[in-house]
Amino acid sequence: MTTAPEATTYRLIDGKQTAEAIKEEIAAEVQALKAAGHKVPHLAAVLVGHDGGSETYVRNKVLACERVGFESTLIRYEDDITEAELLARVEALNQDTRIDGFIVQLPLPRHISAEKVIEAIRPEKDVDGFHPMNIGRMVAGLPALLPATPSGIVELLRRYELPTDGKHCVIIGRSNIVGTPVSILLAKNLDPGNCTVTLCHSHTQNLAEISRTADILVAALGRPEFVRADMVKPGAVVIDVGTTRVEDATKKSGYALKGDVCFEEVAPLTSYITPVPGGVGPMTIAMLLQNTLKAAKGEVYAR
Ligand code: NAP
Repeated sequence: MTTAPEATTYRLIDGKQTAEAIKEEIAAEVQALKAAGHKVPHLAAVLVGHDGGSETYVRNKVLACERVGFESTLIRYEDDITEAELLARVEALNQDTRIDGFIVQLPLPRHISAEKVIEAIRPEKDVDGFHPMNIGRMVAGLPALLPATPSGIVELLRRYELPTDGKHCVIIGRSNIVGTPVSILLAKNLDPGNCTVTLCHSHTQNLAEISRTADILVAALGRPEFVRADMVKPGAVVIDVGTTRVEDATKKSGYALKGDVCFEEVAPLTSYITPVPGGVGPMTIAMLLQNTLKAAKGEVYAR
């Protein structure tokens, strides 16, 4: 006979509120830079095409820049831009001393290699933290521009003072921008960190059995409501990274944003859980701003 998992009283990890607090800290630093006669940080965003999700992300990033007192520049191209043209623009941004950091919003059209574009970005201006040099430095434990979503997750654990030392962290999804860097950061001898990490992916066998052993479960696979109650240990901390648009006629926009965790079913089992929206998403933007501030202060590789 199987017994039903025990329900707990859970607490929400409020990414929106935490991101607001970080933005206030950044805004105060921008004011101090201005008062000292320095220029304000300047973020540029390159957007290719008209993907709905990308348009929203880039718009939110530009709005966030305004909110903290940064300058921002949005550079738009149609889908038919060639790879050579985009690479030339990246090089121009690398050389432009007015721009402290820039991002090229992914995904890119199929005829453009995202890897080539990322590698063309000057590492000191790579505020998304995707350049192999920043990834290599992160792995080596050297100062680096860290990828925004993983460092946003670590920051949530830090600000909520959730213990990580010696905990078993199971991550579902091994992408270069989320799952793999989260696994690296949380395994480090840092605080937050010192987790024993299991990194799962689509070839993992007995996934539910593994995820049920997680003290901290990070779902980053892009499958709406994939994580159900039978995959979660009572009392676990659950971080839901997923953001998939699903059609929803009741919404003005025509869609709803769904996480990778079935919130209604899973939340009552957890000790802490991030909602979608309002969890990891706002933190990603806050960490992007933090990276841009670091780049503007020339502190990227400072020890
Ligand atoms: P991705 O590049 O598509 O990677 C998905 C990963 O999940 C892959 O490693 C894949 O395994 C694994 N996976 C897929 N189906 C699986 C299954 N049934 N069982 C176990 N593993 C499975 O995705 P991503 O870019 O990391 O994004 C993941 C989600 O996070 C998406 O919803 C995305 O929109 C969201 N996201 C949110 C933010 C934010 O700021 N909130 C930022 C970035 C991404 P394989 O490697 O074997 O294919």
